[in-house]
This record gives sequence, structure tokens and C-alpha cells, in this order.
Amino acid sequence: MSIETHTPMLSIDGVVKFFGEHQVLRGISLDVQEHQVVTVIGSSGSGKSTLMRCVNLLEVIDDGVITLDGQDITDPRVDPDQVRRRIGVVFQAYNLFPHMSVLDNITLAPRVVHGVPKDQALARAHELLARVGLADKADEYPDRLSGGQQQRAAIVRALATEPRLLLLDEITSALDPELVGDVLRLVRELAERGMTILMATHEMGFARQVADHVCFLDQGAVLEQGPPEQVLADPTQPRTREFLARVI
Ligand code: ADP
Ligand code: MG
Repeated sequence: MSIETHTPMLSIDGVVKFFGEHQVLRGISLDVQEHQVVTVIGSSGSGKSTLMRCVNLLEVIDDGVITLDGQDITDPRVDPDQVRRRIGVVFQAYNLFPHMSVLDNITLAPRVVHGVPKDQALARAHELLARVGLADKADEYPDRLSGGQQQRAAIVRALATEPRLLLLDEITSALDPELVGDVLRLVRELAERGMTILMATHEMGFARQVADHVCFLDQGAVLEQGPPEQVLADPTQPRTREFLARVI
């Protein structure tokens, strides 16, 4: 089966978003196929986070359609919670609830939102923590973890509900440089296991090595998109070249 015949898991089609008079997204179209890693790159303020927030229904779009597994999730009749249950999200920082242990952070949504029995939620949390090298941090509070450990725990928390899609919004941007590698290694491992990921990042090396598709946003519009070897190594647009020259 050729890739064109697949229905994308996530389809963003002509998405427009205004904040007051300010048009922040100018008709964005971007597809994510199942098992793909798609990275969104672009300067600060280009609209990456807003786009991710639209996918997670934290923002109401002004035009366009977003479908997840073929369902129009931007239809106003859709229950946002029902959509968010299928999406795991990790932000730049402050993902974990500070007043809860790592284990409680991870088991909260599976137990409360998904009705997973406590034993099962705990077993899965321990298994995931072990996989990311945090087995000994289960009972710690977030402020006792390094930034990199917090982000790995946040990824575990996002995975605990077995989401269809993972949204990662600049998850390494707030980290000290020496902590970035461990977090990116984990994302790469998830990608190798077939997780479907939409990720805003400034890590061009990572995008080049791991992404299937790179989308360059410029002032709320997709200036170019395609395979990393094209967009990152041989961009057609002067503004993409300028951006890459600045970040690499
Ligand atoms: P990026 O993640 O690429 O840095 P953002 O999506 O955060 O970009 O922001 C895109 C633009 O939208 C910026 O100009 C930002 O100031 C504006 N913006 C983002 N969120 C809001 C908001 N809640 N209200 C008003 N303007 C916003
Ligand atoms: Mg952002």
C-alpha cells in the first residue's frame, strides 16, 4: 500500500487562529501518519505552541478542520475530554504536579480518567519508570528531580494512558545542555517503537535524524514542509535558510 492511500492519524487542514486582531495561524495544513514523527520548527512566536494547543483543543480554531483517526475533533459537538484522552502532551516545563510524588503523577490520569484499577496503574507506572531509568524516583517529589528527569517522568506520565498521539512542545528548551541528550534519546526510542509524535523543537540534529517529516512555520504559515533531508539540508525558501543558519 502506498503512503498516499493511508488516512493520516492526524490531519490539520487549513487551520486559522486569531487572538483578537492578531492572526496567529494562517491556514496551516499538516498531516501526521500513524507511526510517524513530525517536527515543527520555526522562530519563537511563529505559532508552534498555538498549533499544538489547537490539536489538543486548548484553543478553539477560527477556520479549518482537524481530524484525529478520521474524526473531526474541531466539530463543536465533540467533547474535548474525550479527544484529550487519546493524546499525550508534554510541554516545555512544569508538567508534573508539584504536590504529588512521581508515581502519583503518573497514575492519576489512568486511575481517575480511564478507570484503570490501582494495581494495574501502579504496575504500568513502575514498568515505564524502569524503562526510562527512573525506577528509583517513583516516590520522589518533582522538585527533587533534575530538569531532565522531570521531563522523562512527564513523558512517562503522558504515556501512562496509552495515547494514540504524543504532542511534545519544546520539551528540551528549558533544560541545561547536558540534560537534553537523555530526553531526546527517550523520544527516539519511542519513535523506534512506533509511537506517533508531533513535536515542536529547536533540536535540528534530532529532527534530521529522527523525524520523518519537518514542517517550517514562519509567522503562522507553513513556509515549507517535507522530509528532513530536503527541508533541513536543501530548503527552497530563503527564510528557511536564514532560520537554519541562526539555529544550527
Ligand atoms: P511559538 O510556540 O512558535 O513560539 P506561539 O504559538 O506561542 O509561538 O505564539 C504565536 C503568536 O501568538 C505570538 O505572537 C504570541 O504572542 C501569540 N499568542 C500566543 N498565545 C496567545 C494568547 N493566549 N493570547 C494572545 N496572543 C497569544
Ligand atoms: Mg512555543
